[in-house]
Amino acid sequence: MATDRSELTSYEYRKLRAQVLAASDICIVCGHGAADAVDHIIARAKGGARMDPDNLAPIHGNAGCPVCLRKCNNEKGDRPLAEVVQLVTSVDWFAGP
Ligand SMILES: [Zn+2]
Ligand SMILES: [Zn+2]
Repeated sequence: MATDRSELTSYEYRKLRAQVLAASDICIVCGHGAADAVDHIIARAKGGARMDPDNLAPIHGNAGCPVCLRKCNNEKGDRPLAEVVQLVTSVDWFAGP
Protein backbone atom coordinates (compact mmCIF):
# COMPACT_ATOMS: atom_id res chain seq x y z
CA MET A 1 0.00 0.00 0.00
CA ALA A 2 2.56 2.55 1.09
CA THR A 3 4.87 3.58 -1.65
CA ASP A 4 8.20 4.58 -0.25
CA ARG A 5 9.39 7.61 -2.02
CA SER A 6 13.10 8.07 -1.65
CA GLU A 7 12.61 11.44 -0.02
CA LEU A 8 10.87 9.78 2.91
CA THR A 9 13.95 7.82 3.80
CA SER A 10 16.51 10.54 3.33
CA TYR A 11 18.35 11.66 6.40
CA GLU A 12 17.44 15.25 5.79
CA TYR A 13 13.76 14.46 5.52
CA ARG A 14 13.77 12.39 8.69
CA LYS A 15 15.43 15.25 10.47
CA LEU A 16 12.74 17.62 9.23
CA ARG A 17 10.02 15.21 10.27
CA ALA A 18 11.49 14.96 13.75
CA GLN A 19 11.62 18.73 13.91
CA VAL A 20 7.98 19.08 12.89
CA LEU A 21 6.82 16.40 15.31
CA ALA A 22 8.86 17.91 18.12
CA ALA A 23 7.06 21.20 17.61
CA SER A 24 3.65 19.55 17.51
CA ASP A 25 2.27 16.03 17.28
CA ILE A 26 -1.31 17.16 16.78
CA CYS A 27 -2.58 15.47 13.65
CA ILE A 28 -3.61 18.01 11.05
CA VAL A 29 -6.42 15.79 9.82
CA CYS A 30 -8.23 14.60 12.95
CA GLY A 31 -6.87 17.05 15.51
CA HIS A 32 -5.70 14.42 18.01
CA GLY A 33 -2.18 14.01 19.35
CA ALA A 34 0.43 11.28 18.90
CA ALA A 35 0.91 11.84 15.20
CA ASP A 36 3.87 9.79 14.00
CA ALA A 37 4.29 11.04 10.46
CA VAL A 38 4.29 14.28 8.52
CA ASP A 39 2.80 15.23 5.20
CA HIS A 40 3.05 18.15 2.83
CA ILE A 41 0.35 20.77 3.35
CA ILE A 42 0.68 22.05 -0.19
CA ALA A 43 1.51 19.23 -2.55
CA ARG A 44 4.82 19.52 -4.30
CA ALA A 45 2.94 19.28 -7.58
CA LYS A 46 1.11 22.44 -6.59
CA GLY A 47 4.32 24.28 -5.89
CA GLY A 48 4.68 23.41 -2.21
CA ALA A 49 8.16 23.34 -0.81
CA ARG A 50 9.52 19.86 -0.27
CA MET A 51 11.96 20.48 2.52
CA ASP A 52 10.27 23.40 4.24
CA PRO A 53 9.03 22.64 7.77
CA ASP A 54 6.35 25.26 7.27
CA ASN A 55 4.91 23.09 4.52
CA LEU A 56 4.91 19.96 6.64
CA ALA A 57 2.25 19.03 9.16
CA PRO A 58 1.91 16.19 11.67
CA ILE A 59 -0.38 13.39 10.57
CA HIS A 60 -1.19 9.87 11.75
CA GLY A 61 0.70 7.36 9.66
CA ASN A 62 0.54 3.58 9.60
CA ALA A 63 0.04 3.27 13.35
CA GLY A 64 -3.16 5.29 13.17
CA CYS A 65 -4.70 7.58 15.76
CA PRO A 66 -4.95 6.15 19.30
CA VAL A 67 -8.03 8.30 19.94
CA CYS A 68 -10.27 7.99 16.88
CA LEU A 69 -8.41 5.06 15.31
CA ARG A 70 -8.32 6.69 11.91
CA LYS A 71 -5.32 6.21 9.70
CA CYS A 72 -5.34 9.77 8.59
CA ASN A 73 -2.58 9.60 6.04
CA ASN A 74 -4.15 6.59 4.34
CA GLU A 75 -7.59 8.10 4.58
CA LYS A 76 -6.38 11.25 2.93
CA GLY A 77 -5.26 9.22 -0.05
CA ASP A 78 -4.21 11.28 -3.02
CA ARG A 79 -6.21 14.33 -2.11
CA PRO A 80 -4.16 17.43 -1.41
CA LEU A 81 -3.70 17.88 2.30
CA ALA A 82 -4.78 21.50 2.08
CA GLU A 83 -8.18 20.33 0.86
CA VAL A 84 -8.57 17.72 3.60
CA VAL A 85 -7.51 20.13 6.30
CA GLN A 86 -9.98 22.80 5.30
CA LEU A 87 -12.73 20.25 5.70
CA VAL A 88 -11.62 18.99 9.07
CA THR A 89 -9.96 21.69 11.09
CA SER A 90 -9.83 25.42 11.41
CA VAL A 91 -6.14 25.44 12.28
CA ASP A 92 -4.67 28.31 10.38
CA TRP A 93 -1.68 26.66 8.80
CA PHE A 94 -1.71 28.94 5.81
CA ALA A 95 -1.27 32.31 7.39
CA GLY A 96 2.40 31.72 8.09
CA PRO A 97 4.55 33.77 10.39
ZN1 LIG B 1 -5.14 11.82 12.75
ZN1 LIG C 1 -7.73 11.06 15.79
